[in-house]
Amino acid sequence: MHNKTIKELSALLHAKQISSTELTRHYLSRIEASGHNAFLHIDPELSLAQAAAADVRLAEGTAGPLTGVPIAHKDIFVTRGWRTTAGSKMLANYVSPFDATVVERFNNAGMVTLGKVNLDEFAMGSSNENSAFSPVKNPWDGNAVPGGSSGGSAAAIAARLAPAATATDTGGSIRQPAAFCGVTGIKPTYGRVSRFGMIAFASSLDQGGPIAQTAEDCALLLNDMVGHDVRDSTSLTPEQGNLHEDFTRELNQPLTGLRIGVPSEYFGEGLASDVEQAVRAALEQFVKLGATLVDISLPKTSLSIPTYYIIAPAEASSNLSRFDGVRYGHRASEYKDLQDMYKKTRAEGFGREVQRRIMVGTYVLCHGYYDAYYVQAQKIRRLIADDFQAALLEKCDVIMGPVAPTVAWDLGDKTNDPVANYLADIYTLSTSLAGLPGMSIPCGFGSGEKNAKRPVGLQIIGNYFAEAKLLNIAHQYQQVTDWHQRAPEGV
Ligand code: GLN
Repeated sequence: MHNKTIKELSALLHAKQISSTELTRHYLSRIEASGHNAFLHIDPELSLAQAAAADVRLAEGTAGPLTGVPIAHKDIFVTRGWRTTAGSKMLANYVSPFDATVVERFNNAGMVTLGKVNLDEFAMGSSNENSAFSPVKNPWDGNAVPGGSSGGSAAAIAARLAPAATATDTGGSIRQPAAFCGVTGIKPTYGRVSRFGMIAFASSLDQGGPIAQTAEDCALLLNDMVGHDVRDSTSLTPEQGNLHEDFTRELNQPLTGLRIGVPSEYFGEGLASDVEQAVRAALEQFVKLGATLVDISLPKTSLSIPTYYIIAPAEASSNLSRFDGVRYGHRASEYKDLQDMYKKTRAEGFGREVQRRIMVGTYVLCHGYYDAYYVQAQKIRRLIADDFQAALLEKCDVIMGPVAPTVAWDLGDKTNDPVANYLADIYTLSTSLAGLPGMSIPCGFGSGEKNAKRPVGLQIIGNYFAEAKLLNIAHQYQQVTDWHQRAPEGV
């Protein structure tokens, strides 16, 4: 049952071959028996109440395609009645009085919330080891990281603890954990999915999206996720192109004549040979499907790391100023005066990586350094976006390459070296800085004794609003390969 896709589960629910209540119980018992630390909280009573409501809709004939299908929410989307921690001690006991727009939309669609899943604290990280509630274990190999920051979302899908999960991507956090866990994820064009109720990390980059087993499932989820929201000031309007589309409409288009840009910068020094092999094999598969490969260059790729690690911390330092012990979450129990209360509260509530980002962000924004760092970074951000436009308007329809330079690394391997973590983001950051949609689909495994069980992801990047195209490309690949159907041993 748990190996079924959303599409298949939806068919079974509509045919009354299974009830949402049975399905929900099945996943809840899997979650309770699992040892991956993917889920931070479950609440069977709340889940089963939603499942019962979904069963009524299914019986009445008012159900939509997602009604009764269970979903796990990244614990950065606020949920009424459930704790929302953002992976931080700061919010360890926080219960939001309202639902994030994304959660509200899935609730209205009749989906059943299975629980809240683990993440790096405030979504800052690439390995899930920055979670205040212990890291998630990669279901493929308990010694490996699941990727981050949406490690809980990706691991939940890989371990078949949920058929669907929400996630967020600021610099790669949907694509990289999807790659490390061998599942499918898509980060939409910036501004298509509402950020309302998605706890802010870097507001000009943060974007929600789905993780599931297949591209087709991601399309079904995006149908309900995307759309203008007046409560988010950066949400794109229909006039700006954020239309309600059916993301499944192009899934079956043939790929004949598709021009795939292959950036030389994504295959250079630093790319592990086993990852390169799997990605190149996937590219060959696309040639068999009728596509042509075009060599392209994205010359500013190497600048994406310094640019991102100025802009993201700058925005984070501002966004996180609200956690002051007065308005939300944790407050130090003993303090001398107001200043002392702020200091102790923030020193106790935030983990080391979050503190590091606040320090960096405050530094690059301060008078005297603002022009030298922040303004420069904004200018380079534009140049990075221009690189993509030069390629996507003149040379190719989409761009493909690896998601990350290596397969998942060992837990503990990079915990004392923040820069090593940052370097692993090299292939995902530029897409985020440019605001483009990007996808990760499973395309093989590493090689050698250790890596042979660790998945490799193929990244597919398109121009603004090209989500339906990306999903079409991914779906066609998944019709002729079975990487997305593989599950870790024992699942
Ligand atoms: N790894 C990146 C970071 O640490 C991206 C995280 C994300 O996309 N949320 O900031």
